[in-house]
Amino acid sequence: MEKPLHFPTLAIRSTLQTDENTGAIVPPITLSTTFERGADGSYKDAYVYSRENNPNRQSLENSLAQLELGNRCFAFSSGMAATTALFQTLQPGDHLLLPHDVYYATSAMAKTIFGNKGIEVGHTVMYDLAKVKKAIQPNTALVWLETPSNPQLNVSDIKKIAKLTHKVGGLCAVDNTWATPVLQQPLLYGADVVMHSTTKYFGGHSDVLGGCLVIKEDNQLAQDLKNIQKLTGGVPSPFECWLTSRGIRTLYVRVLQQTKNAHQLAKYLEKHSHIEQVNYPGLKSHPHHKVAKKQMKGGYGAMLSVQVKGDATYAMQLTGRLQLFTTATSLGGVESLVEHRKSIEGPDSPTPDNLLRISVGLEHIEDLIADWEQALR
Ligand SMILES: *Cc1c(COP(=O)(O)O)cnc(C)c1O
Repeated sequence: MEKPLHFPTLAIRSTLQTDENTGAIVPPITLSTTFERGADGSYKDAYVYSRENNPNRQSLENSLAQLELGNRCFAFSSGMAATTALFQTLQPGDHLLLPHDVYYATSAMAKTIFGNKGIEVGHTVMYDLAKVKKAIQPNTALVWLETPSNPQLNVSDIKKIAKLTHKVGGLCAVDNTWATPVLQQPLLYGADVVMHSTTKYFGGHSDVLGGCLVIKEDNQLAQDLKNIQKLTGGVPSPFECWLTSRGIRTLYVRVLQQTKNAHQLAKYLEKHSHIEQVNYPGLKSHPHHKVAKKQMKGGYGAMLSVQVKGDATYAMQLTGRLQLFTTATSLGGVESLVEHRKSIEGPDSPTPDNLLRISVGLEHIEDLIADWEQALR
């Protein structure tokens, strides 16, 4: 076709291939771990052994690469497995630069697993370009962005930071889990790699773990990552790939509606006398609203956090009074969740004591607002 397809069309069509054997329009789950070899040494579809590749993973990877406007995609068994694979491409002496408020496990993994293998792990305030400039060194091999960030919803400028990174020959990767490609496509702004925890919005139903790396060019990095994926084997099962692909078909409408709900909830909470601060980049009062407006389209995401007027105990008790927001970690499902983040991350975390993180679901917005209304007392 001449014209590129629109996102929702691509999301549906890229995950459906009619089965040649049966005519089934939803791809079957191919559980076989091994594939028959012909007497001439060849394989029917280039599948050999399912750690290396299998039809469900191939289909998922093709779809994710298209949705993020990339060339190659590698699927992993979790978001953390995907991030780890990318960090494994670093060499001793390389500098890895992370946001000071990066997803907690990303920071912990970088420090405990790579920090003692000769990788220099540093942190900076990514929404402050002057600080980023200072923090980038001649040996900076990878700058990792997470925007909007978890759980404080800070926004960093992908285009400007990618440029600064390329000046020293480094790569810029973006954890795009919270925005999803529905709202933000980092490769358009010069990023080299996009990571997703597909556990969240792609799966969309809190029932499958997964992660991926989408690479802009089919280059040496892509080859290295294919090698790491194949040899270390942190891959998703065919069923997990199938479930994620099923989620992708409704990604567009889910994210847009959840985003709409989140924006309305943020506006309501911002005015409430028991709330000290609402962290949501869609609000004009948000310090990074302008940057968010520049690089996000169609909305500002379905995640927000609030700082309540009160201490950690008050915040925890509040979660107990909410009835339509299940108190649980994670995000991106159709159901609304709330979480006291500091007590999950531990005492070293920079997250304020009075912060509650909210993943807004697909319930009716009036019910969601009414629930906060009764709980905020
Ligand atoms: C959940 C999450 C991760 C980790 O993904 P897993 O699938 O849990 O391994 C990384 N980054 C962000 C922003 C996340 O929300």
